[in-house]
Amino acid sequence: MKQTYMTIDVALCHDCNNCFMACKDEHVANDWPGYTAPQPRHGHRWINIERRERGVYARNDVAYLPMPCQQCQEAHCMKAAPDVITRRPDGLVMIDPEKAKGNNALVDSCPFGAIYWNEELNVAQKCTMCAHLLDDKTWKPGVPRCVHSCPTGSLKFYQMEPAEFEKLAQKEGLEGYRSAELKNEPHVLYKNLHKYTKNFITAGVLVNGDCFENATATLKSKGNVLATQKTNFFGNSSSMPWKTENTLSMSRLQARRPPARPSSTMTPRTWALSNCLLLDNRLGHKSIRNGEGRRSLFPSLFLNL
Ligand code: SF4
Ligand code: SF4
Ligand code: SF4
Repeated sequence: MKQTYMTIDVALCHDCNNCFMACKDEHVANDWPGYTAPQPRHGHRWINIERRERGVYARNDVAYLPMPCQQCQEAHCMKAAPDVITRRPDGLVMIDPEKAKGNNALVDSCPFGAIYWNEELNVAQKCTMCAHLLDDKTWKPGVPRCVHSCPTGSLKFYQMEPAEFEKLAQKEGLEGYRSAELKNEPHVLYKNLHKYTKNFITAGVLVNGDCFENATATLKSKGNVLATQKTNFFGNSSSMPWKTENTLSMSRLQARRPPARPSSTMTPRTWALSNCLLLDNRLGHKSIRNGEGRRSLFPSLFLNL
């Protein structure tokens, strides 16, 4: 049977909150009997947009992670309360709005914090994937409200056979957030998740104190080229995905004088990353500077762990 899926492209989410507002519009003060009680005006974020900043100013970026209920196939919430939380044949995980009354322990059963407590109505609630709309054949968009309102196409909705979706997931590089750790087999998968969960590397190039545009920055590991980019007007390459961990000492950045700058006297040179290394992690910021910290050409590495 066809299953229901949502995909979220982290690279396309700009934190506009249209999805959040659409969810409010659909559920606040609206009762959908059999699906969910009304969402309260304040306090609930059925699609919560998490934020993570990586790197150090001025070479940093920010990624947003929209987080609705992950519609887990192996749902931790369902295991905690199988008589209250059930899975529909199309894969959607539903909290029974009647049986969930007075049971605020349900809130702690979700490792993603996707279940909220409605103080006013004394009931546990979460994103339903707008199941009441999906079941309504007169709902012409045919997709959940948040997906319909996303202006960048970050949110997408699918109803397809699992084998077909698996092919899509392979092709698009879709991953579950924390699914390796939680083994929850979510029906909400992310594209470009590395922008939120992984490290990145970037190079900044100055020549005689000026930003050096159009230099080539090459990221290598164990002699293999991982990525090549041109520096921009500010002498920066944009962040490159850094998927391998523990290979720091193997990496080298090369900056080469572009042929378009004949006035420069710089010759192609290669610097080891140990020249200037900034290491940043969630537990605190650590800065390591080795070597002379050259002023003329200044390759930098920013690494988030
Ligand atoms: S509507 Fe789309 S772009 Fe805007 S916050 Fe939601 S997911 Fe991100
Ligand atoms: S995300 Fe949380 S609430 Fe949703 S199905 Fe998974 S465990 Fe249950
Ligand atoms: S699918 Fe519906 S209920 Fe879930 S977050 Fe989107 S709008 Fe809200």
